[in-house]
Amino acid sequence: MTAQGPAASAPAVNDLSSFWMPFTANRQFKNAPRMLVGAQGMHYTTADGRQVLDGTAGLWCCNAGHGNPRIVKAIQDQAGEMDYAPAFQMGHPAAFALANRLAGMLPGDLNHVFFTNSGSESVDTALKIALAYHRMKGEGSRTRLIGRERGYHGVNFGGISVGGITNNRRFFGTLLSGVDHLPHTHLPDRNAFSRGQPEHGAALADDLERLVALHGAETIAAVIVEPMAGSTGVLMPPKGYLERLRAICDRHGILLIFDEVITGFGRLGSAFACEHFGVLPDIVTTAKGLTSGTVPMGAAIVREGIHDAFMSGPENAIELFHGYTYSAHPLACAAALATLDVYQDDGLFARCADLAPHWEERVHGLKGLPHVIDLRNMGLIAGIELEPKPGKPTERAFTAFLKCYEAGLLIRTTGDIIALSPPLIIDRDQIDRIFDTLGDVLKTLD
Ligand code: PMP
Repeated sequence: MTAQGPAASAPAVNDLSSFWMPFTANRQFKNAPRMLVGAQGMHYTTADGRQVLDGTAGLWCCNAGHGNPRIVKAIQDQAGEMDYAPAFQMGHPAAFALANRLAGMLPGDLNHVFFTNSGSESVDTALKIALAYHRMKGEGSRTRLIGRERGYHGVNFGGISVGGITNNRRFFGTLLSGVDHLPHTHLPDRNAFSRGQPEHGAALADDLERLVALHGAETIAAVIVEPMAGSTGVLMPPKGYLERLRAICDRHGILLIFDEVITGFGRLGSAFACEHFGVLPDIVTTAKGLTSGTVPMGAAIVREGIHDAFMSGPENAIELFHGYTYSAHPLACAAALATLDVYQDDGLFARCADLAPHWEERVHGLKGLPHVIDLRNMGLIAGIELEPKPGKPTERAFTAFLKCYEAGLLIRTTGDIIALSPPLIIDRDQIDRIFDTLGDVLKTLD
């Protein structure tokens, strides 16, 4: 770089060296790049002109499929009408309309919506709201946060502190203090090849009682879990587990946060997992499917009592010292409103529920293929766990990813687990193509 601006040696446009890609083996990728240049419906188009079936809804987000004309038009219209509006001491109608719409979709009194731009921001917003809420109520000693081993809550400092994925934490110093982790709920010895919620493991929730006894309930602000953990390998909650967590939180005045960044917007066949499992959290975090991945947006949605605690303070004081330049961005609001219309008018959540039994059959049809040591499914989501290659963990699943991509199917891997979560517009034939292709690829793995 020079003080005058771009150096004379700035890379050419087709040089791949400047973009430091997230969560990517940059050096490997740049030797053999996989470039996507278009997306319509259930498919991506690659730079070499191939169609790739999207088995992952982008990154668990494009629930309405790609290029939906109603969503595209809403974004285009909004860009022409009002590109940006500040959300500090100003508002615009679409933000209020969207918040009302979301409040109407969530169960119970989850009625107040704080907008963010991503899942990570939604999580950090929720954690901050939880801490501030207790302080508003005169219980400022409640500062401890409890996450879970193998939990994924985005990549900001709050999220990685409560998160439990080692690689996401270990390079980044001491993180937040006063954080504990519950045990994860993955019990391969007892629950392998479960369909839907596994039978065993509800009692793992009782570890929260241990932390209460250790620290005192009066020090604990909130527990955060993904009701169904996606990024860490598609881990379903054991039957009764979430109910038990809820009961313990109630007993001790601890807030329960459900991170629904993946499970929100129909992935399990209901609008939200909290509705699906019949457990009402105090705060829900969401993002991804809110705009079907078209424009970045997230939200933290809180129950009446939490909001009330902030609103009953002195008038004219700003109630929550928190927010983003792009909170409730007009383009994101327009995208989200159109997306919610599409979900509703096209019946996509019911479609997910209708397709789920066929999906389940096809997932479990992979049993017996080489290296498959577990299969998990719910709604339109699946986790296919492969036995790690001795001395080369992650290699098998990543090879499957590369081979599927060559064969025209996009899958996602996390460690040696393959995760599938297609757009909810998928049809039965496309489900069959996913599992036929994946089955063929699994047979070739050494
Ligand atoms: N929470 C959960 C449960 C997620 O799955 C993710 C993303 N996969 C996040 C938070 C972070 O979302 P983002 O990448 O939009 O920051």
